[in-house]
Amino acid sequence: MNFPIRNRSQALYVETYGCQMNKSDSELIVGLLTRDGYRLVDDVSRADVILVNTCAIREHAETRVLGRMAELNHLKASNPDLILGLCGCMSQHLGENILDKAPYIDLVVGPDGYRRLPEMIRSLDQNREPALSLALDKTEHYLALDPVREPGVNAWVTIMRGCDKFCTFCIVPYVRGRERSTPHQEILRQVERLAAEGYREVTLLGQTVNAYQDGAIDFAGLLQMVADVDGIERVRFTAPHPSHFSDRLIDVMADHPRVCKHAHLPLQSGSTRILRAMRRDYTAEEYVALVSNLRTRIPGLALTTDIIVGFCGESEEDFQATYDLMAAVRFDSAFMFKYSPREGTAAYRKLADDVPEGEKSRRLTAIIDRQKAISEERNRAYIGRMVEVLVEGESKRDADHLFGKTDTFKTVVFPKTAGVRAQTLVPVHIDRATAFTLFGTSRR
Ligand code: SF4
Repeated sequence: MNFPIRNRSQALYVETYGCQMNKSDSELIVGLLTRDGYRLVDDVSRADVILVNTCAIREHAETRVLGRMAELNHLKASNPDLILGLCGCMSQHLGENILDKAPYIDLVVGPDGYRRLPEMIRSLDQNREPALSLALDKTEHYLALDPVREPGVNAWVTIMRGCDKFCTFCIVPYVRGRERSTPHQEILRQVERLAAEGYREVTLLGQTVNAYQDGAIDFAGLLQMVADVDGIERVRFTAPHPSHFSDRLIDVMADHPRVCKHAHLPLQSGSTRILRAMRRDYTAEEYVALVSNLRTRIPGLALTTDIIVGFCGESEEDFQATYDLMAAVRFDSAFMFKYSPREGTAAYRKLADDVPEGEKSRRLTAIIDRQKAISEERNRAYIGRMVEVLVEGESKRDADHLFGKTDTFKTVVFPKTAGVRAQTLVPVHIDRATAFTLFGTSRR
């Protein structure tokens, strides 16, 4: 039996897991399919096509998505024409083997296959066989395919795809392919359009965003050009790699008033021995020297990071080096994880996952506690100061309050005031602080 020929007003539902890059890819998918006539719906039970955009970073993420796909498959009982698709890193990681575990999936599409989605969905009208698109394509930049973004203050702009670093713990280069930078003209076109649509902030996205290179234009040059676009008040970027943090980039961050004074600088470990095992191409000393250079050139800079504990071979001494470095650098906040091996990575193939689970948990708890105390201390330093907040909207916890961010990426909550609305910059006096939030009073 064939699926009925799809008319062009089919309802599309997209569910996204994982990092910001995935969220940005979902916006691209929505742009692509709505231009092809699909209607985006926010109620999964009304959908004709459901796409789940997935993450492969941790095994746990994949297990969770498999459970979710099984749950979504129940919807086929009342809607046998429903198309269920798996997109993103997990598709690329598991390939067609996913169909052994979930044979009811109709589409399996890797991160470089989204352009084929309309045609693949149409092919299902003729043929019930699952459609797969899993080739990695070094030339795929998704040029001229404007994503459909959620309305708001900030828009994400992907400026490069893939990664060439091959850190031993990471699956990304295998599932997202090799590094490629989007031509700068395309990025500027998108940013100018975003400014015209009313977005006040853009965040430039890439797996190693500061490795961007388009001919003679490096990341510092691109950042300068994006920050010069009229109408954009703030520019952020994530995630830079410590090895690509050039002096020119630090100069642009220091000198351009619209480039936010915040750097997310993944550390991973404070032990040079472990950094080598992770194939991170900097030492702990070089990392600390970079932080010192950044803080000297950019007073008031906020610094956030990623840390993994319990990596293969991490001794108590190695762990202590991370713990001590946190106290020395004093990050504003950190994403902290226990190492878990990922099939397909170099660490999985070649290194023993030899730190016992209980010890990994102890180390994780220790760094979380340390970071919480440091975050609280750093946030308390804002008390009594005036900060400029880009207002995002009503506070989720209290309808009488608004929330927004400082250029240092601190969330600020303050009572609603006449004349203060979303998408505007307002001065706020900070009255109190927790490890996660600043609370203040608008002075407009
Ligand atoms: S730089 Fe390392 S951790 Fe980051 S995406 Fe590339 S391989 Fe993964």
